[in-house]
Amino acid sequence: MQNIEKTFWTMMNIKFNTPYISGKELYYIAQAVMGGYSAGDGPFGKRCEERLNQLMHIKNSVLLTTSCTSAMEIAALDLNLSSQDEFILPSYTFVSTANAFCLRGAKPIFADIDPLTLNIDLDHVDSLVTSATKALVPVHYAGISCNMDRLMSIGQLANIPIVEDAAQAIGSSYNGQPLGTFGDYAAFSFHETKNIICGEGGALVCKSQKHKEASEVIREKGTNRAQFFRGQVDKYTWTSIGSSYVLSDLSAAFLFAQLENFEEIQQRRMAVYNYYAEHLAILEEKGLAKLPHIPDYNCHNGHIFYLLLEDLDTRQRLISFLKDKGIMSVFHYVPLHSSPMGESFGYKKGMLPITEKVSDTLLRLPLCSAYDEEVAQLVSGSILEFFGINKSA
Ligand SMILES: *Cc1c(COP(=O)(O)O)cnc(C)c1O
Repeated sequence: MQNIEKTFWTMMNIKFNTPYISGKELYYIAQAVMGGYSAGDGPFGKRCEERLNQLMHIKNSVLLTTSCTSAMEIAALDLNLSSQDEFILPSYTFVSTANAFCLRGAKPIFADIDPLTLNIDLDHVDSLVTSATKALVPVHYAGISCNMDRLMSIGQLANIPIVEDAAQAIGSSYNGQPLGTFGDYAAFSFHETKNIICGEGGALVCKSQKHKEASEVIREKGTNRAQFFRGQVDKYTWTSIGSSYVLSDLSAAFLFAQLENFEEIQQRRMAVYNYYAEHLAILEEKGLAKLPHIPDYNCHNGHIFYLLLEDLDTRQRLISFLKDKGIMSVFHYVPLHSSPMGESFGYKKGMLPITEKVSDTLLRLPLCSAYDEEVAQLVSGSILEFFGINKSA
């Protein structure tokens, strides 16, 4: 199957992302079906949770969920947020970072981002904390984090829980500690555009066992079903509010195959990322574009390779130039504060200048584990051509 796609690439039809099948994905799905268990919290789900605990050097802290969005919804439910409460997040993020908490009625307080890491600006966060702040929600954009020591101390000083949006951060670390193990809660995504995939899926990591047990009940429609099956209680009954957030074992079977090949999948992705970083560095040297900045404290997972271009016009021209060559590149994100929902909370364009500038000028290049250096060469060659740079020079 992947060979057929390869013929398309040589005709230059390079999609932004192509799901990578690493080995036993379909075999394990067949096993789940033949094994007669396909609902949630089954044998493959357990194996995935174990593997994720292992990868993050934590014990018994991971719950698989139907998505990163639902993992954050569980955190918001467990935090008991209400309409009196505020939470601080970057405006430069995916809608779920806000929605999960807005569903509880809480008010989003948008912070700007740091122009180097594109992560939440901690000076700004500091100035936004009030007695109504009930959660800090950092996003590890592109698998790179803000200064977690400083963020943690802001949280601790004001006694505010931290929920890491670690959707993009599997395999990344800060000073050697895996991202997703800092906050009271962390949410990962296995959506098909992420590093490790299962179509749609996610995971919640809880720092304390108390929160993990409560989250397990919320995840299972507000029932103590999981405890019942472990023989810890003698009835299975309704014990809190909750919803349906357990990942099907069919999806977990696919996910487990990916997790088994975690290192290989990451290496493949990093090879493409590193090719871009090396061959496009000349753009930064010539002052034509900025490349991702990786702080010394981060070890990253190559989730996103982006260029920060001169202005909106250059970005749009480069998108069409690449499109004409059959290469799909995409921008990221429409800032939440200037969206119709953001405006309904009293925000407007002009309030968060760095977010707005990045949103206008950032371009994401095709990147996934299904690609190799050949693809990276075609893409970077076309970009250099756009800027009139002779590759052999
Ligand atoms: C992908 C993503 C999400 C949503 O993940 P789902 O699993 O699709 O719910 C949330 N936040 C960020 C930063 C993401 O990149």
